[in-house]
Amino acid sequence: MSGLLLKGVSKRYGNGINAVSNFNLDLSTGELVVLAGPKGSGKSTILNIICGLEAADEGEIFIEQQSCAGVTPKDRDVSVIFPSHTFYPGHTVYENLEFSLRLVKLPAAKRRERIMKAAEDMGITGILESLPEELAPAESFAAILARAVIREPKIILIDEPFPDIPPSEQELFWQAIINLNKKFKLTMLVATNNPEQALALKARTVVLKNGYIQQVDGVRKIYETPANVYVAQFINHFHMTTVEGVLSEGESGYVLSIDKASSVIPVFAPENKKLSNYVGREVTVGIRHNGLKPSRHAESGIKGRFEEVRDENGVRTGFFKSKLFDTLVDVDASVKAGDKVTLEISEGSFFIFDRDTGKTIL
Ligand code: ADP
Ligand code: MG
Repeated sequence: MSGLLLKGVSKRYGNGINAVSNFNLDLSTGELVVLAGPKGSGKSTILNIICGLEAADEGEIFIEQQSCAGVTPKDRDVSVIFPSHTFYPGHTVYENLEFSLRLVKLPAAKRRERIMKAAEDMGITGILESLPEELAPAESFAAILARAVIREPKIILIDEPFPDIPPSEQELFWQAIINLNKKFKLTMLVATNNPEQALALKARTVVLKNGYIQQVDGVRKIYETPANVYVAQFINHFHMTTVEGVLSEGESGYVLSIDKASSVIPVFAPENKKLSNYVGREVTVGIRHNGLKPSRHAESGIKGRFEEVRDENGVRTGFFKSKLFDTLVDVDASVKAGDKVTLEISEGSFFIFDRDTGKTIL
């Protein structure tokens, strides 16, 4: 069954900004979907329209097949989690969870039952008697998620759940969201401007740019086959450089020459019709840095040298510099500063885009 359906939703603010344009999305009940895009891409506007804090100018919203037209925010059964939604200090976690049930009008025994069940499912039984100010960030996040489910909403919306969490702790947070979705089988939409988070949630993902959908698919699929240069750059680990190149057809297939052929990349794509239209033309090449490997003998790749090599607890890192870009790569013990090197680009780590439209050719 459809858990949430958005049909042709558009929103223009008074200042003339089109925050969301013709947004269409269908989530099945129990599905977790990620809304990914940088700041200003329209994520919060979409969430606010779903929960009823903002009105759309156009389009329709259905929650479990019921139209939201004329339904007040309170009656939509949507729980929203904003980063600013914290607990009341000086009251235990249990008390805080209970506050949010006051509005539901349940007998005390029922309230207790729901709180205990949510606490168990979210792994926070041990902190129910703690004060919010005593909790570790991951614990308080799990408790905030528990608070969102005990009202038994039809949908949970999470907006930029943890902007200030150190990367070392983020994993726990991502896992808490995944657990919540699995345990409660809730329809969830999670907005994030953090690509690592989008990748870690391993869900169907919508990539937004200035209010327009760029691509919708499993996040791994998007990472491997981005629709355009914007998506490739956003759904990415580490860094992607884009450079201009020229596509030509050599004896053993297509070749990309970059920087007046100082760097050459073979393109393994025999009989690619789309590519053959681009022979002799300038294209945009996207190179993912995590797909680069140093090689002394490579015929093709990005030519440069190691400016510096560092050894930290046996992990050696070379600072690679070339005319095109600088990057850090793992190196072995034989590499020293000053060495000339070619960085080979592994298959699947570079993309070719139409220079004018940005659309992916390969
Ligand atoms: P995100 O959550 O992805 O950062 P938003 O939905 O907050 O994006 O914003 C989308 C666009 O709408 C941005 O250009 C933003 O400046 C604009 N915007 C958001 N809220 C308002 C508002 N209340 N009034 C005017 N413009 C707004
Ligand atoms: Mg936002």
